[in-house]
Amino acid sequence: MVRGASFLLLTLLVSACGGRSEREVVRRDNDVFRSEPARQCLSTLKAANVRYTPLPNQNFSGGCHTIDTVRLMSFSTEATNLGAMTCPLAANFTAWAKHAVAPAARAYLDSEVVRIETMGTYSCRNVNGGRSGRLSQHAFGNAVDVSAFVLKDGRRVSVLTGWNGKADERAFLRRLHQSACKRFGTVLGPDYNAAHANHFHFDMAQSMKDGSAYCR
Ligand SMILES: [Zn+2]
Repeated sequence: MVRGASFLLLTLLVSACGGRSEREVVRRDNDVFRSEPARQCLSTLKAANVRYTPLPNQNFSGGCHTIDTVRLMSFSTEATNLGAMTCPLAANFTAWAKHAVAPAARAYLDSEVVRIETMGTYSCRNVNGGRSGRLSQHAFGNAVDVSAFVLKDGRRVSVLTGWNGKADERAFLRRLHQSACKRFGTVLGPDYNAAHANHFHFDMAQSMKDGSAYCR
């Protein structure tokens, strides 16, 4: 990720970086998406009609960084608060929206999802927001927190009220949680702990290929 003279050192004020120092040293490196897996991932996004902007690589202090990340511009539905996402996360998130969220909304709620509300992607913080401990996958743009779904008929189904709410909303959200477990390496929801009462956390930390996906 560090390529000698090819990047500039900038100092930026990063305010959305809870828990770590506010003044961060940022290194920009435009030498992005050079590896074959990274290029293949971009091809996957293109083939799925996902529009995106590749973002410059950035190394932040505290060990946080965003390498080979994209900003999603448009895909099968709208989504709020999406920042830098690693390409595999973006590919799985957009596929989940199209192939899991949309059919589940039709099946369980007899409507269409027009907007997925998220609580963001990149954030330089530790797991569970702790003052010490290991960095969250959010610290690498490798995680997204999904909080609610807005339907075409005007309804809004949130994880906070729907998980133990009306029968159709419970079934809808549980189906989305189950289907996410097939796509993301780690899936955490309200049954995991109180910190996840209001959102699903999806990240690509664990590899599904070796069967180590974590789904709670
Ligand atoms: Zn999260």
